[in-house]
Amino acid sequence: MAHIAILGAGPGGYVAAVRARQLGAEVTLIEQEHLGGVCLNKGCIPSKALLRSAGVARLAREELADFGVQAEFRGVDWAAVQKRKDRVVSQLVKGVEFLMKGNNVRVVMGKGRLVDAHTISVEADGAEEVVTADKIILATGSLPAVLPLPGLQPPDVLTSTEMLAIDRVPASLAIIGGGVIGCEFADVFNAMGAKVTILEMLPRIVPLEEEEVSAELLRIFKRRRIDVYVEARVTGAVAREGKRVVQFTHQGAEKEVEAEVVLSAVGRRLNTEGIGLEEAGVELNRRQIVVNATLETSLPGVYAIGDCIGGYLLAHVASAEGKVAVTNALGGGVEMDYRAVPSAVYTHPEIGSVGLTEAQAREKGHDVKVGRFPFRASGRALAEGVRDGFVKLVAEAATDKVLGGHIIGPHATDIIHEVVLAVQTGRTATEVGDTIHAHPTLSEPVMEAAEDIHGRAVHK
Ligand code: NAD
Repeated sequence: MAHIAILGAGPGGYVAAVRARQLGAEVTLIEQEHLGGVCLNKGCIPSKALLRSAGVARLAREELADFGVQAEFRGVDWAAVQKRKDRVVSQLVKGVEFLMKGNNVRVVMGKGRLVDAHTISVEADGAEEVVTADKIILATGSLPAVLPLPGLQPPDVLTSTEMLAIDRVPASLAIIGGGVIGCEFADVFNAMGAKVTILEMLPRIVPLEEEEVSAELLRIFKRRRIDVYVEARVTGAVAREGKRVVQFTHQGAEKEVEAEVVLSAVGRRLNTEGIGLEEAGVELNRRQIVVNATLETSLPGVYAIGDCIGGYLLAHVASAEGKVAVTNALGGGVEMDYRAVPSAVYTHPEIGSVGLTEAQAREKGHDVKVGRFPFRASGRALAEGVRDGFVKLVAEAATDKVLGGHIIGPHATDIIHEVVLAVQTGRTATEVGDTIHAHPTLSEPVMEAAEDIHGRAVHK
């Protein structure tokens, strides 16, 4: 039986471990901290638990009367919010532990170091264990990045890791970076009553999303009195009267924002240092492990997946890469397919997207047609009390093929998947529009946006 050793038990590594067992390999999974990695312990899952509390708080404070429900909002018990989040995380981590046991994956806890193409040395409590394997998969993930600027180093700034575990709701929060993490935390702490300011270097928040989606989220954030500065260049921070003062340049002027807590959300640093990679002969490009289309590194028999190879830095991409890498490690010869990678942002409202934005499609030389449908024209959305958001679909004019989909609205991160399937399998806007969608649902706006590409949306 082939033996595969996997370094890192995040959503890349542990999924690869299960798939390797399913394909008949013996598996050793090495982890220095927690099963589930950043995603389960200090990323995707705890943030979603906090965002859910934020949504409930907003509903209780602002919207109950609209639904005809009489209740008095007395505030948020932050300790209870944190406890609930911790319960969610520990339940899920236990789930992964059971999954590993159930699949007979041998788990070794400790810090691993690649020695050569068949060997990882693992250090735990001063003792060393040498794991040998036929094939190795590196899945070491990433860490929060901070800016190399004065006054902006931990502990003067918090990263997402500390922010998830913060023991109080600060009166004011300055967030550097208006990307995914920045916007999700802005949503949480705004709902909890903090004065939130976002400082984003680029011309718009969630800059990787469709421009109209960024504009809609900005409009909603402003309505909630979140202060947003775009094209803001942060230069440093100082302490003043027990607060942090973040200095930045904006529209040619020097400005500052004072806050009790500063969160740094400026991207992530790939975790590829100090684990023997270069010494063992694994090629790196800056911090990124270089892989080919089968996810093999420059060291034959050693594969790499997830954040440590750069690219998308998304849990679901890491899992998909994990499956491809083990298949190849066991002789498969398959290439990683990135045609349709969904993006999901869990702000209120959520954002779900896939494929090309309108601008990207035009830049690539496509002649495009665009369809839109607003949630306020959806019966189900109105019944749910939703007025914001829309679906936008982009199709190639000549072939009618769906090139991209961009949804901001309720459950957008779930609704997007029919568009993901359309992009992945090359379906046309007509096919999406002709597909019967249950009524009344939040998915009908996708059908209507597809019909709108040909000027035939019925409810618009
Ligand atoms: P990001 O790359 O999404 O956003 C960082 C933002 O910081 C960018 O908008 C960038 O322009 C801005 N920025 C960089 N330097 C700056 C500066 N000096 N001043 C002001 N702004 C600056 O990164 P993130 O939000 O930190 O998230 C990290 C990674 O984790 C991302 O790759 C993301 O995909 C992933 N993630 C995903 C989800 C999700 O899918 N829901 C949630 C959280 C994180």
